[in-house]
Amino acid sequence: MNFVKNFDPRGSQLLIIISAILVINLVLTNSISYVTMKKNIKKSIIENDLPVHSALVYSEIKQELQPPIIASATLADNFFLKKWLKEGEKDPEFINRYLESIRKQYGGMTCFLVSEKTKTYYNMQGAFPIAENDVDAQWYFDFRNEGKQRSINCSINVDMDNMPTAFINYRILSKDGETLGVSGIGLRLSTIPKLLSRYSKDLERDIYFASSEGKIIARSSDAIIKSESLSGVVNLRDSLEKILSDENSIYEFSIGNEPFIMQSMYLPELGWWLINIQRESITLNKMNRMIYSVIAINIVTILLTLLLVFFSVNIFQKRLKSMAMTDALTGISNRQIFELSLKKAFIQYKRRKLPFSLLIIDIDFFKKINDSLGHLEGDQVLIKTVETIKNNIRKSDEFSRWGGEEFIVLASDCNHSQAIDLAEKIRSSIEDSNIARYPDGSVLTISIGVSEIKENDNSSSLIQRADYALYTAKEMGRNCVIFSSSGT
Ligand code: GH3
Ligand code: MG
Ligand code: MG
Repeated sequence: MNFVKNFDPRGSQLLIIISAILVINLVLTNSISYVTMKKNIKKSIIENDLPVHSALVYSEIKQELQPPIIASATLADNFFLKKWLKEGEKDPEFINRYLESIRKQYGGMTCFLVSEKTKTYYNMQGAFPIAENDVDAQWYFDFRNEGKQRSINCSINVDMDNMPTAFINYRILSKDGETLGVSGIGLRLSTIPKLLSRYSKDLERDIYFASSEGKIIARSSDAIIKSESLSGVVNLRDSLEKILSDENSIYEFSIGNEPFIMQSMYLPELGWWLINIQRESITLNKMNRMIYSVIAINIVTILLTLLLVFFSVNIFQKRLKSMAMTDALTGISNRQIFELSLKKAFIQYKRRKLPFSLLIIDIDFFKKINDSLGHLEGDQVLIKTVETIKNNIRKSDEFSRWGGEEFIVLASDCNHSQAIDLAEKIRSSIEDSNIARYPDGSVLTISIGVSEIKENDNSSSLIQRADYALYTAKEMGRNCVIFSSSGT
């Protein structure tokens, strides 16, 4: 490629400097944004993602529990129910139907009432006596003895599709604060399996529900409800004590090299812990993909910029070079370039001994042309003269403007007689071309001085002889070709 061949090393230095600046800029800006984004991602997980997410899970569960809690509280505070208990629990069928109507209203699994006085458990199906040694009735005696106004017992009923069930128990108190019994609603918590199956597809996070004793009740990774100790979960083991003591806290841990951020949140309605674990690497990977795209775009931009700089510098350099080498008016090479070509010709002559000659061409009485036709027309005469000379020489001959209205030809592989013939051909061609006329009506002519390379010659001696020959041609009346073998 010519561009590459002619490329100036100063241009490539400039290119290297620009590349270095762009690459340093690329590395610095991307590293800074990587570090900042990484920090912000962690901050955003801790301050936004995890808390918002846990709050959403919690609110979904609360939404399901709220209506039966209110219903249970209302039931326990029912005046007629208290009266019925006090007055000897007559007509139990009426209570069965009443409990069934409440169950239906709230979509519960069961609605129940336990009488403290008669130790009878009522629900929509009938009345059943309970005893303190009865395992199924243990919850009642525990709750009664605990002294709390309300309790929610959550358990997993394996018989029923692994669906957790919650029993909301409310103490029924007389005016004097005496416990008359306990009433409540039992329901299946359908929100929890829904949450689990939703998050089982989420690769970014894991959700655990754990009991206050640290037993896993449910977890999203396998979307099942199971009973397993939290301490069996890798890396939760170390923070277990903290998880089960602080109501709402954030912990960080890693498995291998992979960092995780975890939030534990106590759900008082259920007496459960919600443990929300977010995989930092997935969010980081998303950011990495974005950074890689930005880097790729930057690299393409840098390459395009460099290509643009490369071509601009090259074109600019070529233009400068050609301006420095050529004569602006005639478009042929200037004196400096001719001198270089002449030096090269001497070097080649030393090797190959092929003769070459110089022709110095000067327009006769050019001043008169300028004076009569004007300077601009004089310029056109110079251009036409150059065109005519060009048509008579070989492409391999170096042809330059020597100064003013003087031109020089380096005729390679050309001895003095061939050079004289060439000069004569040029001279007559100019005369015949009728480029311009002098004020006296005669046509424009040129004079040519010719010299041929000699052993032990140098540039100035060769030029000097051609110059001398030209001077002689002028002396001899112009419009002629003179060869000189000596400089004086
Ligand atoms: P001679 O036959 O002795 O060479 O006479 P001459 O008038 O050609 O010689 P002289 O060297 O006295 O004058 C050359 C003139 O060429 C003078 C200068 O104004 C004119 N000249 C030099 N360069 C340019 C140019 O670029 N354009 C024009 N129009 N004239 C130029
Ligand atoms: Mg002159
Ligand atoms: Mg002249």
